[in-house]
Amino acid sequence: MACTFCEIASGNIPASIVAETSNFIAFRDINPISPTHILVVPKKHLESPAELASYSGEAVKELFSLLDEVADREGVKETGYRIVMNIGDDAKQEVLHLHFHLLGGRRLGSIG
Ligand code: AMP
Ligand code: ZN
Repeated sequence: MACTFCEIASGNIPASIVAETSNFIAFRDINPISPTHILVVPKKHLESPAELASYSGEAVKELFSLLDEVADREGVKETGYRIVMNIGDDAKQEVLHLHFHLLGGRRLGSIG
């Protein structure tokens, strides 16, 4: 079955891409819940954090640098933001391709 985020990563379906590194891509959520709502996803189809743990230290550094860079570019680095990863049914995960939501630009509610 086709995976939407794999299709975005390979350029087969359009997205509003804000930044890219060799292993990760950041694009705007199609249905934003805050003024800044960016998805940061591995270009490779991963489904669990355990698979991300198999990445090299350099790749994991690349991921956190990208999240930091996106927050900075979006102007939320100083005002604050939230990084969320929904895993599985109880978290209401919709897209199985591992992804981080970067949310900011408004006062966020409590988690949970
Ligand atoms: P999750 O519930 O964590 O799996 O969230 C999946 C997110 O992907 C939702 O916030 C959707 O709005 C977003 N989404 C789904 N399809 C697309 C797409 N084609 N481009 C951008 N964002 C998408
Ligand atoms: Zn995928």
